[in-house]
Amino acid sequence: MVPAIELSPGVSLPQVGFGVYKIPDDEVGAAVRTAFDAGYRCVDTATLYANERGVGEAVRSSGLAREDVFVTTKLWNTDHGYDEALRAFDRSLGELALDQVDLYLIHWPVPSADRYVQTWRALGKILADGRARAIGVSNFGEEHLARLLDETGVVPAVNQVELHPWLQRSALVDFHRRTGIATQAWSPLARGKLFDNETILAIAAKHGKTPAQVVLRWHVENGHAVIPKSVTPHRIAENIALFDFALDTDDLAAIAALDAGRHVGSQSRG
Ligand code: NAD
Repeated sequence: MVPAIELSPGVSLPQVGFGVYKIPDDEVGAAVRTAFDAGYRCVDTATLYANERGVGEAVRSSGLAREDVFVTTKLWNTDHGYDEALRAFDRSLGELALDQVDLYLIHWPVPSADRYVQTWRALGKILADGRARAIGVSNFGEEHLARLLDETGVVPAVNQVELHPWLQRSALVDFHRRTGIATQAWSPLARGKLFDNETILAIAAKHGKTPAQVVLRWHVENGHAVIPKSVTPHRIAENIALFDFALDTDDLAAIAALDAGRHVGSQSRG
């Protein structure tokens, strides 16, 4: 039901996944199970979130075939460097108690440490060893991506960045399109701050949908993958019920006009 973005032959990233930032380890299992019941097959965690254990447990006990669930985790800023990255990955895999992750991301480039190229080489080894089915980055700007391409020739499968109607990042998204990097939006709902926007409310009323569904549908129609977060069952279900309506050209133009370079999350960490 949910379309997927092909990262490489046989490796497909569901366009709608479930974000679990700030869900405690002992609560994340229930949230992930609710998401699976609602039809999600993709979970986005990270070392930083301190809930890999609960996510792995939920995946392993879900009754779903492992190959039907897409699990992403991320390397934290204090683990940059070749050997450090290999060790960090081992720890994450141990916490998840899985044989393999589907996508391993460098969480932030941390240019002040200047080690993300070595870190990227370590992710290349993890990919070659078959312990991650795809590797990518998060919060990388064009200059960081260009450097990875120049120095290693290995294209990240994904760049996960803050992206929503207030922050449309067309230059970065164009760079992704030109180089074959999938765009995955974090805080795709602008953390709920867009829901009283008049443009979004008017489009939602026109289609009989919620503001969250309008914003997520906009992402999907623009080819982004999204990982909205909620712990509320009806919202979890709402955020994946996006495939029985479509935005028209007027809607898309009105949402395009909301672009304001406005961040709701961190612009750099580390
Ligand atoms: P989001 O845009 O998904 O917003 C989440 C908030 O919006 C929820 O806490 C809830 O309050 C509200 N919400 C969600 N669905 C709703 C609905 N249908 N109706 C009304 N309100 C609703 O923001 P987020 O949690 O910051 O981002 C989502 C995921 O992205 C995270 O869980 C995490 O997995 C990932 N993320 C990654 C990074 C990164 O640096 N790579 C940074 C932040 C988040």
